[in-house]
Amino acid sequence: MTATLKINEIFYSIQGEALYAGMPCVFVRLTGCNLRCVYCDTCYAYDEGAGMSIDEIMEKISAYPCRLVEITGGEPLCQEAAPRLIGRLLDAGYTVLLETNGSMDLGSVDPRCIKIMDIKCPGSGASQKNNLNNLKYLSSCDQVKCVITCAGDYEFAKNILRSTILSDQSIAVLFSPASNMMAPATLAEWILADGLNVRLQLQLHKILWPNDCKGR
Ligand code: SF4
Repeated sequence: MTATLKINEIFYSIQGEALYAGMPCVFVRLTGCNLRCVYCDTCYAYDEGAGMSIDEIMEKISAYPCRLVEITGGEPLCQEAAPRLIGRLLDAGYTVLLETNGSMDLGSVDPRCIKIMDIKCPGSGASQKNNLNNLKYLSSCDQVKCVITCAGDYEFAKNILRSTILSDQSIAVLFSPASNMMAPATLAEWILADGLNVRLQLQLHKILWPNDCKGR
């Protein structure tokens, strides 16, 4: 008998973020999150969901014509069996992305999994939960993401990254303007003025499907 996870939704769409943006991808959204960021756009995943065994999840994923899978949430690592699901997918030959809020220990995640780890800025209301010890688990395939709501967040992200990984050219750093809070063009100007070694990230799925909040 395989482990069971509480799943909010499984869907097939275009990857909207990070270095795989634009690629077809199967998304597995796990229920539950230990944070409550002020700009959260997936509040529906805090509690809603149904139990599925790893075998059932694998079967559902295999119905899509796609070998790229993202495990997301909520915060996937709130569920103990999430690393086992990731391992099963990797062993089956999928490329697996993990979106994680950066507060949960990444030590149990298979190193073959591509991690997209948040560093929460003060505007999120959750920056005190950052676990920077996780930076030691990141390799050149992984990415760090900062959602920026204001100038204070930008300065926070710049300083924390400068003191940790910004000089490490191998780890991609993404700066994403918070929807309806930060003008993308203003963030672009700040990045250019500072010559920061980061990527400005716009959420492609919100440009493609501005009226859909679930299943995209
Ligand atoms: S970590 Fe992600 S899912 Fe959790 S509250 Fe923050 S934005 Fe929402």
